[in-house]
Amino acid sequence: MTDPCMFCRIVSGEIPVQIVDQTAGAIAFPDISPQAPVHVLVIPKKHIDSLAAGIDEETLGHLLSFAAAVAMTEGIAESGYRTVINTGNDGGQTVGHLHVHLLGGRAMKWPPG
Ligand code: 5GP
Ligand code: ZN
Repeated sequence: MTDPCMFCRIVSGEIPVQIVDQTAGAIAFPDISPQAPVHVLVIPKKHIDSLAAGIDEETLGHLLSFAAAVAMTEGIAESGYRTVINTGNDGGQTVGHLHVHLLGGRAMKWPPG
C-alpha cells in the first residue's frame, strides 16, 4: 500500500494548514508558495489524481462553485480572479491530487507561461 499523498495528509489533518474554508466534500487552504496576493488551493477531500482521472460532474461542479464562494470571502470576486487546474506533465501539475488554484489580488497576464 502506498503512502497517502501530500494533499490527502492535509485533508486528514496530519499536515496542519490554515483552513480558509471547507465543505463536506472540499477544503480550501493557502498555497505554500503563493503566486498572487490571494492564492488558495481548493481540493476534493476524496483523492482524485487529476482532471484526467474521470472526475464525476457533481464533484467537479462543487469544486468550482466552492472556489467561487471562497473568492467572495477572500474579497476578490469583484476585482476578478483566475482559477487554474494544471493537469499532467505538460499542464505543469506537480501534486497528484486534483486541485483548483484560486488566484487574485493582482491583474493576471495572458497567455500563461
Ligand atoms: P500544481 O503545480 O500541481 O498545479 O500545484 C501544486 C501547488 O501545491 C503548488 O502551487 C505548490 O506551491 C503547492 N504545494 C505543494 N506542497 C504544498 C504543501 O505542502 N502545502 C501547501 N499549502 N501547498 C503546497
Ligand atoms: Zn490525495
